[in-house]
Amino acid sequence: MNLHEYQGKELFRAAGIPVPPGETARNAEEAVAIADRLGYPVVVKAQVLIGGRGKAGGVKVARGPEDARREAGRILGMDIRGHAVRQVLITPATDIEKELYAGIVLDRKAETPLLMVSPDGGVDIEEVARTRPDRILRLHLDARGLPAYRARAAARFLDPRFAIQRRIAPILAQLARVYADQDASLAEINPLVTTPGGEVLALDAKVVLDDNALDRHPDLALMRDPGAEDPGEVEARERGLSYVRLDGTIGCVVNGAGLAMATMDLIQFHGGKPANFLDIGGSSNPEKVTAAMNILARDARVRAVLFNIFGGITRCDDVARGLLTALDRIGMRLPIVIRLTGTNEKEARDLLSSRGMTALSDMDEAVRAVIARAAEAA
Ligand code: GDP
Ligand code: MN
Repeated sequence: MNLHEYQGKELFRAAGIPVPPGETARNAEEAVAIADRLGYPVVVKAQVLIGGRGKAGGVKVARGPEDARREAGRILGMDIRGHAVRQVLITPATDIEKELYAGIVLDRKAETPLLMVSPDGGVDIEEVARTRPDRILRLHLDARGLPAYRARAAARFLDPRFAIQRRIAPILAQLARVYADQDASLAEINPLVTTPGGEVLALDAKVVLDDNALDRHPDLALMRDPGAEDPGEVEARERGLSYVRLDGTIGCVVNGAGLAMATMDLIQFHGGKPANFLDIGGSSNPEKVTAAMNILARDARVRAVLFNIFGGITRCDDVARGLLTALDRIGMRLPIVIRLTGTNEKEARDLLSSRGMTALSDMDEAVRAVIARAAEAA
């Protein structure tokens, strides 16, 4: 689960990380009232669950009430790469001397959290990793989190001044604590800034929480903002489907996580691009199949759908019935390739052919067929 910047900053603040004050507004009037209270200049910041807001024009300084009204109105009307802006954060503008980067991610290969810091903050860290890899320092955390001596080493890498290092080091340790205590999979400050007055402040916050740990954090679970999330992911969660949106054109509906992974691999192998991972589980429940089809039907990037079922415990005829019910309900515009094999395969095939549909049994053939259909539809 992604948090908004203002929510991430609340967690940072509670952990002792210096963060400028701020409040959120849902309309221009509210924004001006907050800005008047905080004092000018302020920064008006789009609150959407996606990065790169600055580049998109979603972060602007306002020097007075008129400015604040105009910028808040403009930003609240924006759509940042598919994310409608419904709230803005109003925060006093900070005088920036230098922009630094600090982030903790899970290094899955090393099975350990990894702290990355760079003196080149403010820009995309992937860009720095590509062009100036020597400007990123990587430190693995251990069971104790980030020990003070390692925090100091990272701080030295970020700034040559001792007085500044003494401010940065505890922030890095606090960031490591937020990451561990809140079961995050990402905790990032970009930019972490120094000011001409010698302060160090977190001007942005990006926190991603591990959904599987939310049961342990009822307070954090309440921070979820379904209106700002991808509608497909919201519906999938509500229906108990396991869904991950990807960038391709081929929608996949599969029963079982292993088969879903294999399906995506095979699509990729044959030169296609999956639009999603979607596991409908062992169930043939028409509700679940309908929900799955709905998610894909709504996704404008999807050009064709592969319905891939292995009937083990699940019976193929049940799934075929679920699929036919789903198609009756939603009136699918997309070409569908069906592959099914296993228990009651023949009954399933008969059901489908009574409705003028055919099902393949070979997975390789089905994958190549769906790639071809997607190409025709493009
Ligand atoms: P992002 O683009 O979504 O990562 O949004 P950020 O919160 O990181 O803001 C983008 C950029 O706006 C920062 O890298 C800064 O250069 C600038 N910015 C943000 N807040 C302030 C501020 O208080 N003062 C100044 N001068 N610039 C700011
Ligand atoms: Mn940022």
